[in-house]
Amino acid sequence: MSDVKILLPEREIPRQWYNVVADLPTPPRPPLHPGTKQPLKPEDLAPLFPMALIEQEASGQRWIDIPEEILNIYRLWRPTPLYRARRLEEALGTPAKIYYKYEGVSPAGSHKPNTAVVQAYYNKREGVRRLSTETGAGQWGSALALACRLFGLECTVYMVKVSYHQKPYRRSLMQVWGAEVVPSPSDRTEAGRRILAEDPDSPGSLGIAISEAVEDAAAHDDTKYSLGSVLNHVLLHQTVIGLEAKKQLALVDDYPDVVIGCHGGGSNFGGLALPFVADRIAGKEVRALAVEPAACPTLTRGPAAYDFGDTAQMTPLLYMNTLGHRFMPPGIHAGGLRYHGAAPLVTHLYEHGLIEAKAYPQRSVFEAAVQFARIEGLLPAPESAHAVRAAIDEALLAKEEGRERTILFGLSGHGHFDLAAYDAYLSGQLEDYELPEEMITRALAELPQV
Ligand SMILES: *Cc1c(COP(=O)(O)O)cnc(C)c1O
Repeated sequence: MSDVKILLPEREIPRQWYNVVADLPTPPRPPLHPGTKQPLKPEDLAPLFPMALIEQEASGQRWIDIPEEILNIYRLWRPTPLYRARRLEEALGTPAKIYYKYEGVSPAGSHKPNTAVVQAYYNKREGVRRLSTETGAGQWGSALALACRLFGLECTVYMVKVSYHQKPYRRSLMQVWGAEVVPSPSDRTEAGRRILAEDPDSPGSLGIAISEAVEDAAAHDDTKYSLGSVLNHVLLHQTVIGLEAKKQLALVDDYPDVVIGCHGGGSNFGGLALPFVADRIAGKEVRALAVEPAACPTLTRGPAAYDFGDTAQMTPLLYMNTLGHRFMPPGIHAGGLRYHGAAPLVTHLYEHGLIEAKAYPQRSVFEAAVQFARIEGLLPAPESAHAVRAAIDEALLAKEEGRERTILFGLSGHGHFDLAAYDAYLSGQLEDYELPEEMITRALAELPQV
């Protein structure tokens, strides 16, 4: 019987990130300036990002070297383990082989530090003193708080107000790592004050918090902004996940028929899938499946269009599947999957039929998560549980068809900070949410004219 954990030594941490842009059949549509609607110039982004990241954002180079300083930090949790879910396979009675790549071993408990530390590093190198960012449930905020601490930067996190009050422990984690956490909307920014004037009790949203963090960075010379998903450079940094997974599968002489990741803004899905999508572009048969919540169905129900990344319309326009920048998703428990847009690279691959997407209502997702925890032990983050659901369904399909197949999914994080959500599920209080079409139509009516 072969191993359950397939481990790589530290010297096998990838030394380069993979940039899928080099291999795309057609170039993706460029981001546009929010005012002029013309393609963005690098200097337009300079108030927000350090030059090194702006270059990566626009890069068409296939392989990009990972600096030694980053490799040294990656060593704190990378390589992450690849598991063979033998107990799950047996419990399902499936002929399929199920592997999962577990990113919950990072200090923040998810894949997000893979890019946070890179962003902190380049900012530090270019003389930045402070980073501002937003966070929903707190995963990204805690990853950036950690990264800033490791590289000696200050960190201001605008945290969606409802989460700030409902999820105090991620806030505590950010504060342990030394970040300043501000409930959003706040009176610190024009964007926040405007929302508060309209609705003093606004629970906040990711779109509003992004507006606040961007405004904070634009208004201060020594401060830049940091985004945890969606952008090309973020997906680039996350490719260490898929590159390691490939090496680990090669060690057991295997290769996936399908690669599955949950999809919020696209970073963990992209990070795991892009190195395999490269093979697909080169002619190999491998599917990649992005899984999202039915309550925030960006890929499966949102059109591809130019849209703002934030509510206050301050960010560049990105060509992405979107539910509209004013879309307020219902308060489902997978907080990290509630963004209105998708990564432009994911949208581009989706438009070209190079990846697939699927949406699940949250109760079936939690059912899969609990099943997984009871068989494999690990407690998935509610976000990651979307991938678990889809992997189980693929395995059951294989059983029905009596076909062997190899399934690889991303377990993007652990659910130790999400036990309130599990409580709600176990006590029968969790509800599925049918998103009415008119809610989407209404939000899409506000798409910018380009
Ligand atoms: C933030 C988060 C996600 C969603 O973000 P992506 O950019 O789509 O990866 C998924 N899983 C976990 C554990 C997260 O923290």
